[in-house]
Amino acid sequence: MDPRRRAFAEGARGFMPVDEGLVLYEAARAAPEGPFLEVGSYCGRSALFIGAAAAERGTVLFAVDHHRGSEENQPGWEWHEPDLVDPHSGLIDTLPHFRRAIFDAGLEDHVVAVVGDSPRLAALWGTPLAFLFIDGGHGAAAAHADYEGWAPHVAPGGILAVHDVFADPADGGRPPYEIYLRALASGQFSEIGCTGSLRVLNRTT
Ligand code: SAH
Ligand code: MG
Repeated sequence: MDPRRRAFAEGARGFMPVDEGLVLYEAARAAPEGPFLEVGSYCGRSALFIGAAAAERGTVLFAVDHHRGSEENQPGWEWHEPDLVDPHSGLIDTLPHFRRAIFDAGLEDHVVAVVGDSPRLAALWGTPLAFLFIDGGHGAAAAHADYEGWAPHVAPGGILAVHDVFADPADGGRPPYEIYLRALASGQFSEIGCTGSLRVLNRTT
């Protein structure tokens, strides 16, 4: 990874560990021709890793997020960051942070913010995806809706990566693990990589 872009990604705010971010970068770089999409961008950390691959490949990463935070980012929850609350709306707003991160890394031509509710967008989506990364809401309804809405858009030969997959409930919530199992059980995806809580699958049919 380009050292300057890597430094921005490693310094960015968010939840993506560096080793897993680098796996995302390599997986996206090796994906077939076509656009990339991530669900759950927050302040842009994972998008900087995947976006660097998009730039090298001459493609685009669509970064889907309503930028209002997941359940666990809301006040009173474990992953709340009070300075992300916009005084105007009283709601979390990570979009300005995301935009700054993409701007600073020089990735505005290769990372396109798509601001809205993920299942609503997925229902209207039509373009086959070379690479899909699911890291949006981690509640059961949200995670399964992301899987059902977006996984069918992965092109044959394309990549599906899922974050926060914990086989042991003591390590974290189950829904990302459940959708990872669903992908395998569908017979359409096979696992090609496993780093930390990141699982990388390849669409075989
Ligand atoms: N990939 C990020 C972390 C994502 S956190 C990183 O590398 O740091 C999860 C994100 O999913 C939050 O920003 C939240 O706003 C978003 N999200 C949750 N539910 C969503 C929904 N239904 N539609 C769009 N975005 C959603
Ligand atoms: Mg995550």
